[in-house]
Amino acid sequence: MKNRYDVIIVGGGPAGAATAAHLARAGREVLLLERASFPRDKPCGEFYSPPVRGLLRELGVYDAALRAGGRAVPAARIFCADGATFAGGFAASAACSDWAREGGLSLPRLALDNLLFQNARASGADVRDGVAMRGLLRGAHGGHVNGVQTDAGKFFAPLVVGADGGRSRVAREMGVVRPLPHLQKIALVAHYEGVPMEPDHPVEMHLARDETQATVVCGFGPGPDNTADVTLVVAEDEARRIAAAGRPAAYYDALLPRFPVVAGRLRRARRARLVTCGTFGHVTTRPVADGALLVGDAAAFIDPFTGEGVYFALRGAQMATEAILAALRRGDLSARALTPYARARRRELTPKYAACGLIQQIVHCPAWMAWLAPRLARRPALTERLLGVTGDMESPYRLLSPGYLLGLLRA
Ligand SMILES: Cc1cc2nc3c(=O)[nH]c(=O)nc-3n(C[C@H](O)[C@H](O)[C@H](O)COP(=O)(O)OP(=O)(O)OC[C@H]3O[C@@H](n4cnc5c(N)ncnc54)[C@H](O)[C@@H]3O)c2cc1C
Repeated sequence: MKNRYDVIIVGGGPAGAATAAHLARAGREVLLLERASFPRDKPCGEFYSPPVRGLLRELGVYDAALRAGGRAVPAARIFCADGATFAGGFAASAACSDWAREGGLSLPRLALDNLLFQNARASGADVRDGVAMRGLLRGAHGGHVNGVQTDAGKFFAPLVVGADGGRSRVAREMGVVRPLPHLQKIALVAHYEGVPMEPDHPVEMHLARDETQATVVCGFGPGPDNTADVTLVVAEDEARRIAAAGRPAAYYDALLPRFPVVAGRLRRARRARLVTCGTFGHVTTRPVADGALLVGDAAAFIDPFTGEGVYFALRGAQMATEAILAALRRGDLSARALTPYARARRRELTPKYAACGLIQQIVHCPAWMAWLAPRLARRPALTERLLGVTGDMESPYRLLSPGYLLGLLRA
């Protein structure tokens, strides 16, 4: 059995599958290893920002995504804990590309991830699911990473890409993980069927307070055929209460009435399933090492609140591919040779992660929300600029521009 490749990718989620497809199409020999058996599901709000359409198109899976039930989501609406609401369309804020006019996209992860995974195979990657990576292999004196130990034996390559998600083993073995203590949370993700909705129902974020006055968040993602993804996000220390409730469903049902608009809408709907997962925010000090590189959640995971993880995964895959191909051409896979990827991430993605982090902080501060929400409600253009940033269409720095800040003060 073949065991030497140009690149080994660990993890077949959106980041790994997209990186594998790009590299294989460029003529490289790629091994994609995935622990789960595909198709596999993944707890997710299932809303993707508008540029994801363009990234899927480039990978050649956009039409298949629409055929699989992909639904346009033209707008977002936010419901604050004190009853204030504000809303805006994605198209108004954009630099008017086609995908922006159509808005964001919703599609079950079961379908989306499987399309991307099969696309990696169709693009020429050697794709193996049901094979877990157990550790990195290193050259002499524990230096350069040069392969992986798996359930199915050893595989070798001058570069291993860690695309193994939020609890990345590759990142841990590289020694670069820095947890973000304020972003250790628990998500309870439910799928409902038979939900009454208008055809272009917006994606919604509902905020409420629990009895300790901590902010709890409910994301409402409209799916195909009157289905909806309803995700509750609570602090990590709620784990005790979830356990005390006996089963997650009992905790979920007790919390849902704090979001009366959603609870009312779901009264006659059927909950098809409920999954609980930890969402543990982290960043990495460096996404590259000698013979190793991180992409997707393995490189950084902020929070599902602004719904951009799949964008980060697919855009990160593009950026990684460019740097990997250049390094392979030079025959140098050292951390130094891979630094252009670290630099590109710092330039393009780090400000976006910072903006997501800032929005998180504001959302969890009732005084800030009480100041901000009525202003955004009065001035839709300011909301649309905000959605342009969280929707990955505009530079986060535009939220810090004197014009934007002055607009908020005057609104
Ligand atoms: C509750 C929640 C809601 C979210 N909602 C949204 C949303 O609405 N929109 C959005 O864009 N993003 C959302 N996200 C974020 C999004 O899910 C991630 O950013 C995205 O999945 C990242 O893709 P990835 O390929 O990096 O990682 P993953 O999708 O996690 O894929 C990693 C893969 O690696 C595999 N793997 C792990 N370890 C090994 C190993 N040792 N060997 C082999 N394989 C391994 C796993 O099985 C998995 O398939 C949400 C996240 C959470 C937790």
